Amino acid sequence: MPLLVMKFGGTSVADLACIRNAAAKVKREVERGYDVIVIVSAMSGKTNELVGWVEQTSPLFDAREYDAVVSSGENVTAGLMALSLQEMDVPARSWQGWQVPINTTSAHSAARFTSIPRDNIDTKFAEGMKVAVVAGFQGLSAEGRITTLGRGGSDTTAVAFAAAFNAERCDIYTDVDGVYTTDPRITTKAHKLDRIAYEEMLELASLGAKVLQTRSVELAMRYKVRLRVLSSFDDTDENSGTLVCDEDEIMESKVVSGVAYSRDEAKMTLLSVEDRPGIAAAIFGPLAEAGVNVDMIVQNISEKTEGGRAIAVTDMTFSCPVNQVLRARKAMEEARAAGLIRYDDLIEDTDVAKVSVVGIGMRSHAGVAAAMFKALAAENVNIKVIATSEIKISVLIDRKYMELAVQALHDTFGLESA
Ligand code: ADP
Ligand code: ASP
Ligand code: MG
Repeated sequence: MPLLVMKFGGTSVADLACIRNAAAKVKREVERGYDVIVIVSAMSGKTNELVGWVEQTSPLFDAREYDAVVSSGENVTAGLMALSLQEMDVPARSWQGWQVPINTTSAHSAARFTSIPRDNIDTKFAEGMKVAVVAGFQGLSAEGRITTLGRGGSDTTAVAFAAAFNAERCDIYTDVDGVYTTDPRITTKAHKLDRIAYEEMLELASLGAKVLQTRSVELAMRYKVRLRVLSSFDDTDENSGTLVCDEDEIMESKVVSGVAYSRDEAKMTLLSVEDRPGIAAAIFGPLAEAGVNVDMIVQNISEKTEGGRAIAVTDMTFSCPVNQVLRARKAMEEARAAGLIRYDDLIEDTDVAKVSVVGIGMRSHAGVAAAMFKALAAENVNIKVIATSEIKISVLIDRKYMELAVQALHDTFGLESA
């Protein structure tokens, strides 16, 4: 029997009527002859509420209990989805992660899959079950504890099941009808893409486009899963939405295919760090150990006078998520106190955002960076840090200009008519 994976995000299962609407879409695929694995998220807003409850109960919470609490939202939707399908005469049952079992590492709140054995679900399909409804976002560690995969993780559950069960396709149903040239909430000029290459989607996701969790795109790329993003609120057919696929399945591509943003960034600068071999390792080692996700890095060599003598120093700037600033500061202060590094001051800028342009066409086209900087200059947006890779250019700017910058870049690269 051909098999499909269908994933419904929070807004698609926000209430009982939405769950019924999603169930009707699943029923349609069953009637077309598919066995279906449905992956569900928690009802919209539920996971945030659960996270809030954990933080109010215990600010420095035990990560294992955090996972036990925040994973529960998905259990409710899985049961309700199975019941809705049964009411429509579709043989369905729900599965929590541990029942499959979805085996993961023990990295609580950032767990990764280790294996998804098929036997239990396959046996039920062989007995006549048509739909397995699986709670997304969760798994089971080798220690027998419940784990979660990080926010937005149900996308990754969906792709992992599609890979494990050789699904014909993995359909991600959400509140937009596909992947757009930028977040349609930022500009109405955003344009839906019919296809996007895995690599571009990977960059867009990792640079902030939350329509797919980054890890889900990584898995889809590795296991060649045909991944599609489409709306749960529109009538859909096999041509709806956006297909994430290999580069060579895309007939023509623009130099820039999308603009992404990440709102909650921070910039930290260590002033007058002594300049010697090993200094970068001495700074970024402790930051990594403290669990700080450093993103962009800039180093400026200068001189300072100490005891009447000029010595080489460097200002080291890096960016990280704004909620990791305290941890970063503590790591740097401890490294200084332990004599591992010397610096004059540590400056924090917590009002910055990152805006990025992405496109595989950049590999063969020069001038994208220049056009990007010119567009930002025309809007009087000051660039604080720049980072580039083969298919993306990112800048750090004041957060208050973020939307303006996204809109200006969207116009500059002609994405409205993409
Ligand atoms: P779900 O709850 O279904 O997982 P998410 O809220 O995680 O949905 O992701 C969908 C949202 O992603 C959209 O509502 C949209 O605002 C946002 N988004 C950001 N960038 C893009 C983009 N390039 N294309 C489409 N949606 C985007
Ligand atoms: N419910 C989880 C979250 O809000 C997982 C998901 O929706 O993908 O992050
Ligand atoms: Mg999501």
